[in-house]
Amino acid sequence: MCVICDPSRRGLFRLALGAAAGLAAPSALRAVPAKKPLIMLDPGHGGHDPGAIASDGVFEKTLTLAAGLDLRHALLRTGRYRVMMTRTRDVYVTLEGRVADTIRAGANLFLSLHCDHLPENKLRGASIFTLSNTASDKLAARVAADENSADTDHSPIAGVSPRVANILASLETRATKLGSNSLAEDIRTSFQGVVPMLPDPHRSANFAVLRDPSTPAALLEMGCLSNPLDEKRLHSPRHRRELAENLTRAIDSYFANYAGHHMAG
Ligand SMILES: [Zn+2]
Repeated sequence: MCVICDPSRRGLFRLALGAAAGLAAPSALRAVPAKKPLIMLDPGHGGHDPGAIASDGVFEKTLTLAAGLDLRHALLRTGRYRVMMTRTRDVYVTLEGRVADTIRAGANLFLSLHCDHLPENKLRGASIFTLSNTASDKLAARVAADENSADTDHSPIAGVSPRVANILASLETRATKLGSNSLAEDIRTSFQGVVPMLPDPHRSANFAVLRDPSTPAALLEMGCLSNPLDEKRLHSPRHRRELAENLTRAIDSYFANYAGHHMAG
């Protein structure tokens, strides 16, 4: 059994990954009392990285932060979760810094929030991505390349060669992969008939921000800023609240079903 598959040694792996991400050893191993599951929300982009830009000049980083704050509010209101965010202001956080924060906090779930911008402006709807070392299709590969380009400082994890990136993705444990897929399917189910989605909305690719091998994680593209209807919805505080309510339902379902069973074991 390798260090990744052996639960008793997974802390050592987290420590090694934390060290690679520039974390001090004691904080990487700090235990967080797990009375309630800890959700790490990750509003994409920030600071000098605006992400995609809507036709009216609004930045993706502004919309992801607004959606993240709404979702934090909705999750805390249930009384069932603790919530942390990789950023709560308009600041730049590297992709590996977001992974390191998640490892340090000992989060039970990681959800990264983004808005898409596709070349074909007729395409609209949300899509949900999980980690794999091979992209599920061309669109997923393109979205991952776009989102991975947020790190411009060639940091030690996000700036690795494609070969090393594939090795990191392949370190994801089977339990993590099952958890990530379960979360993605719960989001898809909660959106069904309520939030527009792209065809085949659950896709996979090698996203730098999803490379913590032991935290179930997904990256949600909440809609396409390249589509006028989606752009309007993403700008609407009412729609963002609706999105937050549906994501809360998805996270409830994740912990009640897959993770509830998994964590109880
Ligand atoms: Zn993005």
